[in-house]
Amino acid sequence: MLSSADWVRKHLVRQESFWDIRDTGLGSWAVRFWTDLWHPLGRLIEVVGEIGTQKLGIARTALVCEVWNEGCWAFRRCRDSQMRSLIQAIENFALPDDRTGPDVILWKRQTNEFGKVFSTAEAWQMIHLQYPTFSWSKVIGFPLGVPRFAFISWLAIRNRLSTGDRMRAWGQVQGCLFCGEPNESRDHLFFACPYTYTLWLEVV
Ligand SMILES: [Zn+2]
Repeated sequence: MLSSADWVRKHLVRQESFWDIRDTGLGSWAVRFWTDLWHPLGRLIEVVGEIGTQKLGIARTALVCEVWNEGCWAFRRCRDSQMRSLIQAIENFALPDDRTGPDVILWKRQTNEFGKVFSTAEAWQMIHLQYPTFSWSKVIGFPLGVPRFAFISWLAIRNRLSTGDRMRAWGQVQGCLFCGEPNESRDHLFFACPYTYTLWLEVV
């Protein structure tokens, strides 16, 4: 599955570096006929498939301004019913006149909608990777929680604390400092250690 970031890279940046993208100076006419979003139907290459480029005789990289010529569309005659309905839909769609209307910057929203106002929250929703929510997430993060406690709890839940049993792999030998148990593991430290046990009795 394509993530949003991949999508932007693939369709908008087109595998080029963001910094290498040049303004063609053509303004709104530098829109690609097949692969850009300019028609209400969506990307035309996705509507009719790659075969459409051959059936209509329009190159995949052609710009809209190359197909729109002197005030009308330059389509070849086509018998294919799907192509005819596509041509119909394109001809019924009034193109904005770039001599009268200025270009505007629009921000893409979640579902192919475009708006004038930039929303940080929506931009974040689109570019960040979605992960499943863990059942213990509320134990770690909650209002007024102390970040360093949350971090320690998180390490403990993932069993990534530097306990004796894990440090042994790095050549460090360390037993439980409370009771002397040689195998200081997370479970021992928090629950099985006699010292911790007395603490729990005080707390609970
Ligand atoms: Zn112990």
